[in-house]
Amino acid sequence: MTSSLAGKVAIVTASTAGIGLAIARRLGQQGAQVVISSRKQENVDTTVQQLSGEGLSVAGVKCHVGNPSERQALVERAVEKFGGIDILVSNAATNPVYGGLLDCPEAGWNKIFDVNVKSAYLLTKLVVPYMEARGGGSIVFIASVVGQIPSMGIAAYSVSKKALIGVSDLFAKECAPKNIRVNAVAPGFIDTSFSSVLVSNDSIRKSLEKSIYLGRIGKPEEVAGVASFLCSNDASYITGAVMNVNGGMLGSTI
Ligand code: NAP
Repeated sequence: MTSSLAGKVAIVTASTAGIGLAIARRLGQQGAQVVISSRKQENVDTTVQQLSGEGLSVAGVKCHVGNPSERQALVERAVEKFGGIDILVSNAATNPVYGGLLDCPEAGWNKIFDVNVKSAYLLTKLVVPYMEARGGGSIVFIASVVGQIPSMGIAAYSVSKKALIGVSDLFAKECAPKNIRVNAVAPGFIDTSFSSVLVSNDSIRKSLEKSIYLGRIGKPEEVAGVASFLCSNDASYITGAVMNVNGGMLGSTI
């Protein structure tokens, strides 16, 4: 199979469901060797079996991104199994707190920032030397539309995604001399378990759809195509960008 990611090795965090799984599958379909990971070994095993059954080249390891030794194990798995690292898609996030900043408990704030920002930052630091050793690479952070238009309903999560966009921007500048491109993808409302509280409720879903130019919730595969493009050579002159994948929302009220 000739394809744009043939010979590349990719790590995708939180890749046993939702957007991460769609990205892992797409990178694999484009010819990359992909390391699958998430918190539960059982989910990792099932996903590796599923994607291998589709003819894709994958390996898996359990990795809660907030756990330092599991982040290290993720990197080691990629290097042992496939010989290096070219691509990191940092996709894991959590949102345990709803409401405004004034109502956000410190423990909730810490959890959100540990998983959504700090672990993405620390995992990036771990993979950069391996990318440098290969002569370059591509890193994609999965942010959110609420990192651009903060939402009062998920305030701390919004700030974390805004911070992640900042992390992406500064890594792009710092890693450019190493030939490592760094970009963020900012999805709008995408049909996954993460958004199910909103999108499975008919009246909330209808009101959300009114705020989207295309009038519908997105699919994980529609984010995966953009992430895969950013990892490919077709995006060779794109770094420090935030790609909106939201069906058209920024001029709307959310
Ligand atoms: P999802 O469907 O809930 O995905 C859950 C995946 O994440 C599973 O594979 C889960 O597996 C894994 N996971 C959860 N916590 C983890 C952790 N701490 N470490 C490692 N893996 C973890 O979520 P999603 O909607 O695809 O979201 C993916 C990304 O897109 C997130 O960064 C989210 O903020 C962003 N996003 C989503 C939407 C949306 O509307 N869905 C919109 C904007 C941005 P285990 O249970 O085995 O860990």
